[in-house]
Amino acid sequence: MNAVLNFANLSNYINNYPPYDQDLAFSFENISHLQVALESAYGPRSGRGLAQRVGRASFKYGLREFGPELGLTDLAFRLLPLPAKLRAGIDAFAALFNNSTDQRVRLEWDEKNIYWSIERCPLCWGRRHQEAAAMTQASTPCCHLAVGLLQEALYWLSVGRYFEVEEEKCIACGDSTCTIVINQTPMS
Ligand SMILES: [Zn+2]
Repeated sequence: MNAVLNFANLSNYINNYPPYDQDLAFSFENISHLQVALESAYGPRSGRGLAQRVGRASFKYGLREFGPELGLTDLAFRLLPLPAKLRAGIDAFAALFNNSTDQRVRLEWDEKNIYWSIERCPLCWGRRHQEAAAMTQASTPCCHLAVGLLQEALYWLSVGRYFEVEEEKCIACGDSTCTIVINQTPMS
C-alpha cells in the first residue's frame, strides 16, 4: 500500500487515509493516479488483476454502507427472479454513483447485454493526456476496478453466478465514454 501511494505521489496519505465520509474530498485525479501506480508497481498485467480485485473487494464495503438505503437487502428484493433483480440492482447501483459521487453513469440495455457507460470516469481521469505526455498512450481500456466492482455486484445479485463483463470503450483510448458491456446470461 505504501509503495503504491509513493508511486502515485500520494505519500501524504501513508498511514493517513482519507476520512470515511461522503465529502467527495478525494479527487478523481488521485483515484486515476492510484490506477497508474498499480500498473507501474506491479507491471501492467498484475496491476490490472489487482485493480479488478480492489473493485471486487470494494463492493462488499459499498453494500454494507448503501445496501439498506437502496432496498437491495430487503427480502422482497432478494426474492425477485434473476432478470428483474439484475435490472433493479444495476439501476440502483448506477443511481448511487450519479447521486452520491461526481461519476456519471448512463445505462442502456438490449436483448443480450447491459451497457454501463461511464461519462465522467475517475479511474482514467486525465489519463490520456498524462500518458500522451509520457509517450505511452493507453492502447487498451484501463478501468479494471470498475469491471471488478460490477463482477462482484453481479455475483452478489445472482447469488453466486459469473457473468462476462468487459470494458469495450475507454476515455483513455480516445472514446467518449468508458463502456463496460455485461452479458445478461450468466456463464455458470
Ligand atoms: Zn475510465
